Amino acid sequence: MALFSKDDRPLLAVDVDGVISLFGYERPTDDAPGEFHLVDGMLHCISMPTGPRLNRLAKTYQLVWASGWEDRANDYLPGILGVPSLPYLTFDGEARFGSAHWKLAALEAYSGERPLAWIDDSLDPSCYDWADARPAPTLLVPTDPGVGLEEGHVAALESWARTGYSPR
Ligand SMILES: [Mg+2]
Repeated sequence: MALFSKDDRPLLAVDVDGVISLFGYERPTDDAPGEFHLVDGMLHCISMPTGPRLNRLAKTYQLVWASGWEDRANDYLPGILGVPSLPYLTFDGEARFGSAHWKLAALEAYSGERPLAWIDDSLDPSCYDWADARPAPTLLVPTDPGVGLEEGHVAALESWARTGYSPR
């Protein structure tokens, strides 16, 4: 009998800028689609419904921060959104706002052969090529950076895991 079992839930890699912290929306500040919070001296517009949405997804997935925020995601987002502290990827100074390809090596190393969904506003063709080449089920979920993680994304992610990762 095994004394402990490995976490065999699928992984969900979660970007922050463009998924939780919104930008590029065309609305005045007093009608912004989120709450403004100061993060390391910069104002971020945080979409508050993403908190309960992430908590729902955490029942199906093991969540991991996949963001240039790295450990700072845990410094700020649990307090703002009511989500737990999460494991986080680090990028050795490679993080570049507005793109995502620099996340691939860290995602590859962290995810191994586990099924992986990845929600990000900056997915580019190199990310889709990488997903196609992964031996394990992989789902890329793009977001609009002015809207972020929506109800429809949650439903699609829950359905993907529930139906045995089909269609890819
Ligand atoms: Mg982003």
